[in-house]
Amino acid sequence: ISTSGLVHIYRSQGHDVAALSGIGITVQPGELVGLLGPSGAGKSTLLQLCGGLLTPSAGRLQIGEHNLATMTAPELDRMRARDVGIVLQGAGRNLIPYLTPVDNVRHAQRAARDRTLPPPQDVLELVGLTDHARAPLTSLTPGQLQLCAVAAGIATFPGLLLADEPTSQLDHQARDEVLAAISTINASTGMTVLLVTHDPEVAALLPRTVTIRDGRIASEGRSGEEFAVV
Ligand code: ADP
Ligand code: ADP
Repeated sequence: ISTSGLVHIYRSQGHDVAALSGIGITVQPGELVGLLGPSGAGKSTLLQLCGGLLTPSAGRLQIGEHNLATMTAPELDRMRARDVGIVLQGAGRNLIPYLTPVDNVRHAQRAARDRTLPPPQDVLELVGLTDHARAPLTSLTPGQLQLCAVAAGIATFPGLLLADEPTSQLDHQARDEVLAAISTINASTGMTVLLVTHDPEVAALLPRTVTIRDGRIASEGRSGEEFAVV
């Protein structure tokens, strides 16, 4: 991820809301970076821009080889299907409820139209869900559902995984399992991860964090040490 002067303005009921007012960040391939900041800071907006779900109002936004400011809608669709995975807050919110874990992963892979992807069972093994591959989703715990959501998010082995508060509605044990899965995938596959969190305990485990406030970068830190950006 490489951005400079990234601006996003929502036009809402006749007036403009500047959600991001000039963000410049670089996330190197293979990094796992936490995005912190109070509610309303612009974290979700930044994540949605990186995922091609919103279009920047101004500035530069590069995701791998893609320049998101100039991409057409079909190009963005293709990028989302193949190159960027998304996990949302909740317990398996981006899953299809009537499909089993293995079929959810297969469904996510189908959109990518790539015959070289590993079998869905191998993706479930990465998150430790092998024993539940064909169980109905209704029989899974919230933590297992979110592990399944991670599996669906990484099903196409995208270069980038975007996670928006992926552990915020889970108990501590499930939270740690989901974080461990994301961290293992990052380490073993080199997948870049940008993870939004409110949870200081989660932030403390991440190798690098970026804090945004009022649509601007407030501070950056490495290994728990925060320092102001001048
Ligand atoms: P979070 O703090 O978890 O990012 P929010 O409560 O800010 O979530 O936003 C939840 C949803 O409401 C998002 O889809 C966001 O785009 C939308 N939203 C937030 N603020 C506004 C607003 N002022 N007008 C319209 N929609 C909004
Ligand atoms: P965060 O994820 O850090 O809570 P958001 O990116 O959701 O922040 O929101 C940043 C700002 O943009 C907030 O002021 C929010 O109210 C506003 N906002 C978010 N979504 C919308 C929307 N769909 N329409 C209008 N304003 C929005």
